[in-house]
Amino acid sequence: MFNKKTIDDINTKGKRVLLRCDFNVPISKETGEITDENRIVSSLPTIKKLIADGAKVILCSHMGKPKGVPSKSLSLAPVAERLSEHLGKEVRFLDYDDVVNDEVKEIVSAMKDGDVVLLQNTRFRKEETKNEENFSKELASLCDIYINDAFGSAHRAHCSVAGVTDFVDTNAVGYLMEKEIRILGGALDEPERPFTVILGGAKVSDKIEVIDNLINKADTLIIGGGMAYTFIYAKGYGIGKSLLEADKTQYALDMMKKAEEKGVKLLIPVDTVVAKDFDNDAEHFTVDIENIPDDTLGVDIGEKTIELFTNAIKESKTVIWNGPMGVFEMPNYAKGTEAIAKTMAEIDAVTIIGGGDSAAAVDQMGYGEKMTHVSTGGGASLEFLSGVDLPGVSAVDEK
Ligand code: AMP
Repeated sequence: MFNKKTIDDINTKGKRVLLRCDFNVPISKETGEITDENRIVSSLPTIKKLIADGAKVILCSHMGKPKGVPSKSLSLAPVAERLSEHLGKEVRFLDYDDVVNDEVKEIVSAMKDGDVVLLQNTRFRKEETKNEENFSKELASLCDIYINDAFGSAHRAHCSVAGVTDFVDTNAVGYLMEKEIRILGGALDEPERPFTVILGGAKVSDKIEVIDNLINKADTLIIGGGMAYTFIYAKGYGIGKSLLEADKTQYALDMMKKAEEKGVKLLIPVDTVVAKDFDNDAEHFTVDIENIPDDTLGVDIGEKTIELFTNAIKESKTVIWNGPMGVFEMPNYAKGTEAIAKTMAEIDAVTIIGGGDSAAAVDQMGYGEKMTHVSTGGGASLEFLSGVDLPGVSAVDEK
């Protein structure tokens, strides 16, 4: 059950509020423009609420992986500009590579109620990812209240996500974080049934903890994408040049057995699109899984599998999806992924996209608006689905 203190439980008027957002947005290398502003837009309700309540809003976030070495290409400057446009007011960018210093402190102490500033990329400081106390204390020294609205970073025990809360008296979660935890948590704890989980993407090894957790909760577990070929191989079929994690064969067999014992329907592909090469224009065709030629690799689920999977989805009342069904970046192999997205968009059920590539695919195909929720966190939502506590959530006080 959701029991964290939220932004609605505290009075922020006249207070210096450090708001951790996830502004880790993709930026075009050629133009320097933000190419997907979803994470910025998702953070606006919390920022607007703080402005309306008369807080002094100090925004912070990481971007990319600078590993403690400041670089212009990972500056948050474009984010400050885009935020200013959305909010219709200046978001002053504090362009200091050390993120917090005496000048920053001076500017913050001169802020008026309703002002907004944005700190430089927190990962320009090497202490950030090590959760070192000195940087957590520096961040805490800027504020009276800390609010975490960065679901996409909640699985990281970093200074600006977790450590800082040790040195601030009052902390809470923002609206985005609250929404993510309520929806994902609600679906896992009390799903309306039948509850179907669809997993895809490249690797079994990335999803083991998720499978381990969800096999105890879901009614149907659908496995597609690159990871399915390890299951197909485990059943004794040849898979040609398809993705294989040979060391996960026993795991796949164990899971198929466990599903049977528990009465969980575990669906894997019955046919597959195979291509001669990993190339959109390579010769490709559909075969049953018993007949995958040695010189081909599986790149998408086939028509019969689309029918099998979408029929199961149509019978469901809660559906969570993480990971594409094929190499959806290549248009010839995007059919399976698109069929899942379309079916989820059409059914009357709680439909949740667990971030990452499937969120990108759903948005790109125009189905995002039709889902109950598209998570802003890839790694974070996967860890949430694994049932582990997220450091950024645990660190926030309970009501
Ligand atoms: P993940 O990050 O684990 O969700 O994996 C996403 C990636 O898996 C995407 O880039 C897809 O192109 C890739 N993928 C999905 N299906 C396959 C496949 N059959 N063979 C190779 N890669 C795949």
